[in-house]
Amino acid sequence: MAEGTRRLRLAMQRQGRLTEGTTSLLRGIGLRFEDYRQRLLTPCRNFPLDILYGRDDDIPEYVADGTVDLGIVGRNIIVEKGAKVEELLPLNFGFCSLVVAVPNDSPVAAAEQLSGQRVATSYPHSAREYFERLGADVELVELSGSVEVAPALGIASAIIDLTATGSTLVLNDLKEIATVLESEAVLIANPRSFADPLVNQAIDRLMVRINSRLAAGRYKYITMNAPEAALPRIKEIVPGLKTPTVVPLAEAGWVAVHTVIAENDFWELIERLRDAGASGIVVMPIENLLA
Ligand code: ATP
Ligand code: MG
Repeated sequence: MAEGTRRLRLAMQRQGRLTEGTTSLLRGIGLRFEDYRQRLLTPCRNFPLDILYGRDDDIPEYVADGTVDLGIVGRNIIVEKGAKVEELLPLNFGFCSLVVAVPNDSPVAAAEQLSGQRVATSYPHSAREYFERLGADVELVELSGSVEVAPALGIASAIIDLTATGSTLVLNDLKEIATVLESEAVLIANPRSFADPLVNQAIDRLMVRINSRLAAGRYKYITMNAPEAALPRIKEIVPGLKTPTVVPLAEAGWVAVHTVIAENDFWELIERLRDAGASGIVVMPIENLLA
């Protein structure tokens, strides 16, 4: 480690919906650490970083006050806490939405119509801002959990709660009528750490790795055989990062084409490649991708 550098600290959720995604992202960028969650700080063996496991609700504050330099947490929590942190990168996991839901048999069809009624939530700050923006005067009932049962208990006529698939809402005879916020896990930094050149260098090294990992997830490596005559059409279909690699095969007039394609339009591309004359198509996942 260069003189003057210090170890970075990163806070992540100890146990919950973000734990697996966070752990596999950190391991996926090559960090090696034990799963010692009972320890206060778990050191990475091959990177100047220590991991602090905590409740997700506390992570924005840890980052804002400089207890840690970095954190991985749902954007929903950052917004709710109004934490002064730098949002560095969305991480492509932990997707969910904060929604307004009412009982299936409720006459309420839009959030504005909740004026004068009670709304239960664990997100009072986000809920208050949302209704203020709408100009609706609702009475918020703050609950720390099981918000979805509030309407059935007669505590409130609507809720604002997180949902990913909507199954908990359906299970409780509720329907979604509006979205307050879309969320996913994000990497956040303490603003002073981020501005400190020495610390920033280490953060930057981490971000290069994370970006490469995220990019890798969006692409696949593909190889195929094709008659040379089909090359112009194939190149049009898969331009590659720059241009595809073309290797002659033992059989005269045939080539192998290697390139990278976006996962989004993966099946459509394969169909077009086959139509163009490609065969023996092999598709492989990419672990890291540095453009
Ligand atoms: P903790 O003990 O750390 O406070 P928690 O019970 O408050 O945990 P989890 O339920 O594990 O939190 O959710 C953590 C985060 O996962 C949420 O803040 C949100 O960003 C994300 N998330 C993804 N899908 C969902 C979902 N279906 N419901 C709730 N949160 C979800
Ligand atoms: Mg929590």
